[in-house]
Amino acid sequence: MNNYDLIVIGAGAAGLTAAIAFLREAEARQGGAAHCEARGEGIGGAGGGCADARVLLLDANGEPGKKILATGNGRCNLSNTSADGWRDTKDFFQSTGVLLCEDEGGRVYPQSRQAAAVRDALVREAVRLGAEILCETRVAAVSEAGGGGFCVKAERSGEPKTLSKGVRRAGSGAPEGRGEPRVFSAKRVIVATGGKACPAYGNFGDGYAIARGFGIEVNPIRPALVPFVYEAGVKERFAALAGVRAKAKVELLARLGGDGGTDNGGGGGDGADNDGGGGAEIGAARIPSACDAACDVIASSEGEVQFASYGLSGICVFDLSRYYTGGGGHAIRIDLAPMHAEHDIAGLLASGRAAGLAGVVHSKIAEYIERNAGDAIAAAALVKRLTVPVSGTKGWKEAQITAGGVSLGEVHMDSYEAKKTPGLYFAGEALDYDGASGGYNLDFAWNSGMKAGRAAAATLS
Ligand SMILES: Cc1cc2nc3c(=O)[nH]c(=O)nc-3n(C[C@H](O)[C@H](O)[C@H](O)COP(=O)(O)OP(=O)(O)OC[C@H]3O[C@@H](n4cnc5c(N)ncnc54)[C@H](O)[C@@H]3O)c2cc1C
Repeated sequence: MNNYDLIVIGAGAAGLTAAIAFLREAEARQGGAAHCEARGEGIGGAGGGCADARVLLLDANGEPGKKILATGNGRCNLSNTSADGWRDTKDFFQSTGVLLCEDEGGRVYPQSRQAAAVRDALVREAVRLGAEILCETRVAAVSEAGGGGFCVKAERSGEPKTLSKGVRRAGSGAPEGRGEPRVFSAKRVIVATGGKACPAYGNFGDGYAIARGFGIEVNPIRPALVPFVYEAGVKERFAALAGVRAKAKVELLARLGGDGGTDNGGGGGDGADNDGGGGAEIGAARIPSACDAACDVIASSEGEVQFASYGLSGICVFDLSRYYTGGGGHAIRIDLAPMHAEHDIAGLLASGRAAGLAGVVHSKIAEYIERNAGDAIAAAALVKRLTVPVSGTKGWKEAQITAGGVSLGEVHMDSYEAKKTPGLYFAGEALDYDGASGGYNLDFAWNSGMKAGRAAAATLS
């Protein structure tokens, strides 16, 4: 029986949450505990949830919530106390049995600091409530069927490698072969396919094609929360700094009147694939050491900047990438001593005290500045405004998120239901939302999933 009340495409953060919210809402609307008791299926019992609704989660990966496991370096920074949806996120995880804690920056983690605890709790709750989860199944197309429902066509891309405990497979009988199509029908569909960032976790941008199939506008997408690569002409100059980390203030600059460089940003449409490299040749003499007059500041951030062999990384640099829309003529300006005034640093260096520049910045950066500055004033200027030309980002493979996506103007913001196609919902990163590092992206995934799931259940009761 391939007929469902709800099919959720993508069993990631948003999709698992959507399925849980749908089944909880359906259960509540059917009378909650009383209904369960009448059916002899107590809530929370081994028999699972008791909503009459049938829910199927389809996922292209070999296991549900695979990306959740990688978040926050395996610790899952699942929200932030200043995120819009933080209160609802907190209630949701409390109801799912995951104890939370926060750090001094407001970043919220599971108390266990284990992303697996979050993923496993979501999968267990979805299964307990009665959801079926079918892995290694990639949805190829969604179309409207008669009677207000949908037809969902999927392909098995292989046998599941590791199914989490409790994950059931839809249907019965002999397992389908690789590539064999499967067809499902559903009254409601939630598209929670994520974006295009990190294809290793099953993100190929399929949700955008599904949206476009219904005439729904998809805003241009680009890789975000991703390192920048040096312009080819300056890579050698900064090579000696590889491995250095420094607390700094960073700014993304668009160099006005720049030569445009090579468009290597992955911006301007989801077809663009950006794996870094390339970039315009810029002679050393043309590298601005402090481009105050000739530059526009597009974005700024503070934190630990990391010099790599290919370019600049670190969370503060990731945050700048959300504002990079592609093209050359960009630079990252680094203030290596944000708490100190330039004239104080110049005075200290001019005083000839023993430590010299190494008393101000990391020794390798000190060597770099000594090589490039003639006097204390120029050295202080480089400490405050070290300007690094960049030609693009490391692209989709290394991006944590996708900026752009299904236009928010195309959905009702209280339900994320498509305005043009009632019954079709979007949740998570497939939508045109991108947040800073620090838990905002997962927070949006949980919250949009909750809203879409609840709203979809409400329309069926
Ligand atoms: C390494 C890394 C670390 C991160 N750390 C954090 C962090 O600490 N905090 C934070 O807030 N954010 C973090 N993020 C971002 C965060 O993980 C995402 O924003 C979030 O997972 C988006 O949730 P989602 O459910 O929309 O998409 P996803 O989690 O990407 O889930 C989408 C699911 O859909 C499936 N899918 C895609 N296409 C199809 C299809 N056609 N058919 C069937 N299934 C399909 C995929 O297999 C996938 O399982 C991190 C991202 C990465 C890559």
